[in-house]
Amino acid sequence: MAISNRSQSGAIYEHIEVKNPVTSEIIGSIPQTSADEIKETIERARDAQIGWGALSPSERVGYIRRWADLVWEQQETLIKINRRETGKTDSGAFLEIIVLDNILQYYIHHAPNFLKTQQRRTIVPFIQKAKVFYKPHGVVGVISPWNYPYLLGLIDLVPALIAGNSALLKPSEVTPFTAEYAIKLMHEAGIPRDVVQVIHGDGRAGATLVEHVDYIAFTGSTATGRKVAETAAKRLIPYSLELGGKDPCIVLEDADLDMTAAGLVRSAFENAGQVCISVERVYADARIYDALMDKLLYYAGKYQMGSDDGMDIHMGSMTNTRELERTEAHIHDAISKGARVVFGGRRRPELGPLFFEPTILADVDHAMDVMRQETFGPILPVMKFHNLEEAIRLANDSEYGLSASIFTRDFKRAEAIARRLDSGDVSVNRPQMVVATPSLPSGGQRNSGVGRRNGKEGLLRFTHTQSFLTDNLFGQQPELRLADPFSLQVAMVLRTIRRYIKFI
Ligand code: NAD
Repeated sequence: MAISNRSQSGAIYEHIEVKNPVTSEIIGSIPQTSADEIKETIERARDAQIGWGALSPSERVGYIRRWADLVWEQQETLIKINRRETGKTDSGAFLEIIVLDNILQYYIHHAPNFLKTQQRRTIVPFIQKAKVFYKPHGVVGVISPWNYPYLLGLIDLVPALIAGNSALLKPSEVTPFTAEYAIKLMHEAGIPRDVVQVIHGDGRAGATLVEHVDYIAFTGSTATGRKVAETAAKRLIPYSLELGGKDPCIVLEDADLDMTAAGLVRSAFENAGQVCISVERVYADARIYDALMDKLLYYAGKYQMGSDDGMDIHMGSMTNTRELERTEAHIHDAISKGARVVFGGRRRPELGPLFFEPTILADVDHAMDVMRQETFGPILPVMKFHNLEEAIRLANDSEYGLSASIFTRDFKRAEAIARRLDSGDVSVNRPQMVVATPSLPSGGQRNSGVGRRNGKEGLLRFTHTQSFLTDNLFGQQPELRLADPFSLQVAMVLRTIRRYIKFI
């Protein structure tokens, strides 16, 4: 909730209260940073970037290595802060740390090589030489959501820093303290204070950031992403958008049903379903549909929900009333159109105000919101298909295209299906694994986003290329014509050779 206060000097300032979703207790407040303060912060970042960008990639990576070790040492504190503002489980908060750590180790080892100057071929061999430099954009703004406040706050910020940019992070106003602690550890690891900074506030602060930075890496809803893209387009700055999803999973008749059911329960209910890449709809071959439903009920029955400490609790609280209400609305809409709740479906107020049971729906179809709109809650709707063409058509029947998965033992068949799915990634027998695999680019199509994070692609988006060419003028005379007889002759000879030999 935003609150206005008057300071001793009489100036009015706003701050935003942050709540623990499990207890509803107010755990702190953050300032709504003003537009002027944000501009000043960006100016400091711009000055600081000059020294940071002048370091070699290996030197910058050295800072990230020190920071990664500090995070590892301080993981208990980080997990505590994260849980207090999200309501998630111990294992959920730990997962954020281990997934990002894998990505950090990947960039620590590979980024200096990715950022190396490249030699390229020229059209006049020996006389001309060409290189490509990867240069930072300058100041990068990172805007993150509340569902993974550590992972999604840092996953884009770190490669932006390694590429030589300075960076400003605006975490979600719902979960600001995890990211703030992570940045404090960056400063302790020696990264200069103005090279990486946090600014707080709601969408107004985010919008101001987009108005002044040189690159924006946004993660959040499709509606906000569109606004960010409009401003970026007006300013002609590059950007990446990681947005919403409605991820399909196709279960083929040869799948291992125990592994499939356990995997689906995990990937649909992890983080109370508040995951952009959670499995939000399942299409199961009609021949194994009933058997799969039995297994799903079995594994869902073993799923532990609560707010206790320990790695054996599978699912915690939802974080916001908005997502809880949308989850209920999707269930009501589905029931009114003929769906059946076969597991869960209720709030659990005795555990906390935002706890909602993992829920499995049967008899669903695409007339229902739950099969077409992003739920961002713990619902797993399961639909039968009678032939593969139908399954592929249904999987692609969405405005989104983030991630998709297939359960099968036949990887060749899975690959052929994957090539026909409109999604940024497809994983077989292990949904959600691509984003945790640092070498693989990850991101969405259609309304799920623009650009990719992770991998070489996710690093190089934080650079622009500068091409460099030298000509030693060997054998050349001063000449004003664009095509003198000698150059024309050389061009003809080169063209003949080039038809048979690749040298550009
Ligand atoms: P949101 O769009 O409401 O907010 C995201 C961030 O944008 C917050 O920090 C918010 O303060 C800021 N913001 C709000 N208005 C802004 C504006 N006009 N300009 C700039 N910034 C603004 O999203 P949310 O509710 O925090 O997150 C949930 C959504 O994020 C879901 O749709 C989910 O699918 C998506 N998401 C996507 C990914 C991904 O990697 N693709 C990951 C996690 C979440």
